[in-house]
Amino acid sequence: MELVLTNLLLIALGGCLGSFASILIYRLPLKNSEINILKPRSFCPLCKNQLTIVQLIPFVGYLYSRGTCQTCDAKISSSYLIHEVLIAAFILFIFNKMEFINLSAWVIVLIVISLYIQSIIDMQTLNLFQPLSIIIVIAGLLLNISNGFFTIPLDALLGLIFGYGILFCINQVYKMMRSIDGIGSGDFLLLGGIGSVFGASAIGPILLIGSSITLCLYVVYKNKDKDLPLGFGLGLAGIIYCLMFIYI
Ligand SMILES: [Zn+2]
Repeated sequence: MELVLTNLLLIALGGCLGSFASILIYRLPLKNSEINILKPRSFCPLCKNQLTIVQLIPFVGYLYSRGTCQTCDAKISSSYLIHEVLIAAFILFIFNKMEFINLSAWVIVLIVISLYIQSIIDMQTLNLFQPLSIIIVIAGLLLNISNGFFTIPLDALLGLIFGYGILFCINQVYKMMRSIDGIGSGDFLLLGGIGSVFGASAIGPILLIGSSITLCLYVVYKNKDKDLPLGFGLGLAGIIYCLMFIYI
């Protein structure tokens, strides 16, 4: 009974964090100064009516309104529900493997959610939100320097330098040949952040898995000339690596 209750609480917590992640995914790339991450309250993108309290409840809100705005009937993207479900699954997984009072577990939650938000923002806008990558860098270094959770501190530092450097160098070579950037500078820092979390030795596998995930988008996209979001694959590869590490 206690386990069921704990898991229900974790799902509720994950739903709330997923709902917050949705807000960040939608608002961080906006250039509109009137909309920030705190204000205004969530609203329908079409008729601008604010959502009701019930509609703001994770999982329940979307199902209750059957994925449409109550005022103008506009369809609300199912991505909001998907973010809540996925983040709740991550939270459930992490806290079933780690103690609730373990500070490292909370830092890992921060890293996983930041990677997830970066992935989705990159897929939607082909841009990464640099402050989030800086949070990942700092969280990774703190985690490894304080208790060597994923790797030793020196490896974390090398991971930061190597992760940033490898994409920077690949881009420089590409730029010499084609006179344009092949990789966005946001990707350098994101891979640097991933390196600071998992260490230099993890860069190779994560780069391989990440670029494979991104290449899958090429198959999915109808317009084959569309630029591919490398950060999307790197972020997801980082999450997969993290969850596998905790599992083993
Ligand atoms: Zn509406």
